[in-house]
Amino acid sequence: MDIKPFDKKVWLSSPTMHGEELEYVTEAYNTNWVSTVGENINVIEKEICEYTGVSRAVALSCGTAALHLAIKLSGVKAGDRVFCTDVTFGATVNPVVYEGGIPVFIDTEYGTWNMCPEALRRAFELYPDVKVVIAVNLYGTPARLDEIREICREHGATLIEDAAESLGATYKGRQTGTFGKYNAISFNGNKIITGSSGGMLLTDCDEAAARARKWSTQSRDNAPWYQHTELGYNYRMSNIIAGMVRGQLIYLDKHVARKKHIYERYKAGFSDLPVSMNPYIEGEMQPNFWLSCLIIDKDAMCPQQRSDCEASYIPQSGKSCPTQILEALAAINAEGRPIWKPMHLQPIFSGCDFVTKEQGSADVGADIFARGLCLPSDIKMTDEEQDRIIAAVRACFE
Ligand SMILES: *Cc1c(COP(=O)(O)O)cnc(C)c1O
Repeated sequence: MDIKPFDKKVWLSSPTMHGEELEYVTEAYNTNWVSTVGENINVIEKEICEYTGVSRAVALSCGTAALHLAIKLSGVKAGDRVFCTDVTFGATVNPVVYEGGIPVFIDTEYGTWNMCPEALRRAFELYPDVKVVIAVNLYGTPARLDEIREICREHGATLIEDAAESLGATYKGRQTGTFGKYNAISFNGNKIITGSSGGMLLTDCDEAAARARKWSTQSRDNAPWYQHTELGYNYRMSNIIAGMVRGQLIYLDKHVARKKHIYERYKAGFSDLPVSMNPYIEGEMQPNFWLSCLIIDKDAMCPQQRSDCEASYIPQSGKSCPTQILEALAAINAEGRPIWKPMHLQPIFSGCDFVTKEQGSADVGADIFARGLCLPSDIKMTDEEQDRIIAAVRACFE
C-alpha cells in the first residue's frame, strides 16, 4: 500500500502558539523589562504555584538548571551515589555528574514505563547509604509516586521529581511536579507548553526556594557591591521567556485534552494489531499524554539490530519492528522517534551500576527500547493526518 507523503511535515511535538504569548512578550518589550526581572516572571511563578498546588516556584533558564539546583539542594557531593530513572532523557542524569555524584540506574516497570519500585527497594538493600532519588514521569505518565515516596521515606532519602515531560498530569488527583521535596518542570520547545526554553524548580520549602533563587542569579549577597559567599550560576529565566510561558499556560489544559484525543485515536486505530500503547494505571493516574508511544508484542517483532549509532531489520510478513515503522513514518514525512535509550546503555554511563528488581532478572528498559517507539504527537496534527499515520503503521504489519 502506498500512502501519500504529507506536504507539510507532521512533527513529534512542536510548539503551538495562540497569540497571548506575543502580547506578554510585547508588553515586556514596550516597558523595557526584557531581562531577568519583571512582571511576567513574577506572575508566571505565582500562576504555576496556583496550577500545581506547590507553594514556591523559581523560574529558571531551563529544566536542566532546575534539576541541577535540586541536586545541590539535596546535598549531593562528589562521590555520592544517586538513584536515577533509567529510561529517560540524559538531562535527568547529567546534573548528578555536574556535582561529582555517581548515578546508579534503577530498572523500569512495564506498568508505567517508569522507575520500578521493587528495583528501587533492591537498590537500597545494595546501597543503604544513598540519600537522593530522581524519579521521572516519562512521556507524561506519572511514576508510582506514592510507592517511590514511601521507599524514600523509609530510607531517609530525598525525592527529586523530574516532571519536565508531565506538566498537567495528575497522580491520585494531585499534580505531578509536587511529589518530590524538589521538583523540576521544563518549557523547552517540544514540551506540552513552551517558553521557547525555560524551566522551574518547584518546592514547598521556602528556604530552598530562596537559596535556588540566589544561586540562579550569581549568588549575589545583599551588599552595595558584588559580594559573594557562595558559588553562583546564571540560571534565571528572562522576562521575555516568562511572557511566552504566561501566554501558553492559559492553554495547558487544552493541550492536554488534544494530546489525549491523539492517544485515544491511536489506541483505537491499533486495537487489532499486535501492539499496545504506552501504559498507565487507570483510576490512579491521569497522564498529560505528551507523547503517544507504542510497543510491539514480543512475538510480532521481526529481527532488528542496533549498533551504537545505526539500526537495521529483516522484514517479515505479519511482523514489524520500531526501525521499520520509523522508516515508514519518515517516508510519509512524519516524525517518530525511538524510545529514549536507557541510560545504562549509554556509553557515557557505561561504568555505572544498573539495578533490576531481582538479581539477574530481565532488563525491562532495554526491552521497551527494543520494541517501542514514539509516534507523531503534535497537537496541530489533524484527524485525517493521523489516519494516514495509522494506515502507515498498519501497513508495516501486513
Ligand atoms: C526536557 C527534559 C529535561 C530538560 O529540560 P530542559 O528545559 O530542556 O533543560 C529534563 N528531563 C526530562 C525527562 C526531559 O524530557
